[in-house]
Amino acid sequence: MARVELKSVYKTYEGGVKAVNDVNFVVEDKEFVVLVGPSGCGKSTTLRMIAGLEDITKGELYIDGELINHIPPKDRNIAMVFQNYALYPHMTVYDNMAFGLQMRKVEKQEIYRRVQGVSKILDVAQYLHRKSTALSGGQRQRVAVGRSIVRSPKVFLFDEPLSNLDAKLRVQMRTELSNLHIRLDATMIYVTHDQVEAMTMANKIIVMKDGVIQQIGPPLDLYDYPENKFVAGFLGSPPMNFLDVTVIEKNGKPVLHNVSFELIPSPEHVRDLQNYIGREIIFGIRPEDLVFSKRPQLDNNIGAKITLIEPLGAETHLWLTTTTQPLLAKATFRYDFRIGNTINLAPNMSRARYFNKETEYSLLDYTDLKE
Ligand code: ADP
Repeated sequence: MARVELKSVYKTYEGGVKAVNDVNFVVEDKEFVVLVGPSGCGKSTTLRMIAGLEDITKGELYIDGELINHIPPKDRNIAMVFQNYALYPHMTVYDNMAFGLQMRKVEKQEIYRRVQGVSKILDVAQYLHRKSTALSGGQRQRVAVGRSIVRSPKVFLFDEPLSNLDAKLRVQMRTELSNLHIRLDATMIYVTHDQVEAMTMANKIIVMKDGVIQQIGPPLDLYDYPENKFVAGFLGSPPMNFLDVTVIEKNGKPVLHNVSFELIPSPEHVRDLQNYIGREIIFGIRPEDLVFSKRPQLDNNIGAKITLIEPLGAETHLWLTTTTQPLLAKATFRYDFRIGNTINLAPNMSRARYFNKETEYSLLDYTDLKE
């Protein structure tokens, strides 16, 4: 069992930097939770407080219901894997993995058994007698992970473990870590600035910005039902488009208006938009929800000029401009797109999201939409 809970946790560094501000969350036993957000948002600080590497300024940290604010790191039964691996360069792979156990006076044979077992799981058994400096980046990261596994900790903490690897290796290690989570059935907390890692690996994502949690939930819940513009724009690549529109009234119904287009909202959004008639709001639409059509439609047509084409093979990203604002669309078919041509887009209005222009909170009450 390993359930981690943070209650109203704050961290203020010397000099007054408020790195973490009233953070509350629970990591359930065996959950893979990813803390994600832009650089400097307080992710590492949160992780380091859980590990005990950083004092908690205010608030409570529990593991399995026990308050552990003042328990030293070595007694927390937590293992942390860092971005820079933090291996001992003069030691062999075997010794790097065995070191923690030796310090804990585990029996020699037991150490041998555990290191052998883990090195097979991580595919580094053939390098056990090499110095860690003679390994590639991916192999070093596996050894660093192995070193944490041999201790059978209650909780694994990962601080951007893949950011030093090249793109291909990162994808491979991502699946390896996900498989490892399934295999070990362990509680894992993972910090990254990469939303793809968060979306693909997490059971639950915690999005942070400026030391404050923005939203917590399963990846697709956050993707489909973002509570604010920041979460909507942070998850998803290419990101959601945001366009300023004014809600006007036509035949007693709200319609979205700007100088380039007029859009009729989806029926299930009408009630929430009704309160905003006469006001400017933000209309959000994901690139995959802008559907191409050969001819302009009578209703809900956005005409946009192509400014840049990015063919990726499986899909093509089109950078576009309406008369007022830029847009990005994703085409999953091949077509003779040309820069300068105008194309017609039909937004999938039931997938549209709306945000208050001042507060940037969602205007939609998702509880109704999810039912
Ligand atoms: P992230 O992991 O999301 O990139 P951090 O938790 O490392 O963010 O940092 C959060 C904020 O705290 C940043 O503004 C950073 O500059 C500041 N910070 C981090 N470590 C220290 C420190 N040791 N002393 C002072 N400020 C720090």
